[in-house]
Amino acid sequence: GLIWYDGELVPWRDATTHVLTHTLHYGMGVFEGVRAYETPRGTAIFRLQEHTKRLFNSARILNMTIPFSVEEINQAQIAAVRENKLASAYMRPMVFYGSEGMGLRADNLKTHVIVAAWTWGAYLGADNMERGIRIRTSSYTRHHVNVTMCRAKANGNYINSMLALQEAVRDGYDEALLLDTEGYVAEGSGENIFAVFDGELHTPTLLSALDGITRKTIFTLADELGIKVVERRMTRDELYVADEAFFTGTAAEVTPIRELDGRTIGCGSRGPLTEKLQSLYFDHVSGKRDD
Ligand code: PLP
Repeated sequence: GLIWYDGELVPWRDATTHVLTHTLHYGMGVFEGVRAYETPRGTAIFRLQEHTKRLFNSARILNMTIPFSVEEINQAQIAAVRENKLASAYMRPMVFYGSEGMGLRADNLKTHVIVAAWTWGAYLGADNMERGIRIRTSSYTRHHVNVTMCRAKANGNYINSMLALQEAVRDGYDEALLLDTEGYVAEGSGENIFAVFDGELHTPTLLSALDGITRKTIFTLADELGIKVVERRMTRDELYVADEAFFTGTAAEVTPIRELDGRTIGCGSRGPLTEKLQSLYFDHVSGKRDD
């Protein structure tokens, strides 16, 4: 396959970097996760503009300057899918510092950009899209709120996510639920969370969760169904007694949650509103609707 690397498509094996790459040492970098789907009109990247905008915003928050225009980064993603002849794809744009120097000043460093694309199925398991996943509350917290980097999809924000997911998997769960530093529900390791209470959709505010593009899409779909969406602080025990719960994310798409900390949520499988939104989501991304 080919990877877009600083303006050129290069063979996968040549898309390498030096061991003194600054980002490898200090973790200062930003990235995106984007999906392209097969549609009746060919392969289409879902919410390309929004992902590129978030990438540039993440870089701005971390004071990194992307040496390409928004349009160039859009085209890079299109090229990565097209030139690899992928009908559907997961794409990974990433911005990182080069190996021109060490230390924390980082004022003499080149900023590099790559876009890789590959085929990736259901992130949390195909069977789980219907059956739902089992999750546990993590001993690791989401602490964007303390570092004022809530809006950045930054490499460094994923250390706790990884530790949380590894802890969950080691204990036999499919995913982790991270709380914020005050103990309120934040998000999954790489997903936003929603709960259903009496026909309404509730989701945590953006104080401790990433501003998910899938989350926003769910708002739109809920609006079309005439379902009220409430953004608020939520506790883990409220989730125990929710009628339904699900995760959203570019990788996880819409994944039902059937159990949290050993408590069965709702009917113990995919709930009716989750099923409806999941099916609308897949119709939406695969262009089976007009918008
Ligand atoms: N929360 C975190 C920590 C994530 O990494 C992601 C994935 O990008 C999400 C939420 C979901 O965001 P999106 O729907 O934009 O993929």
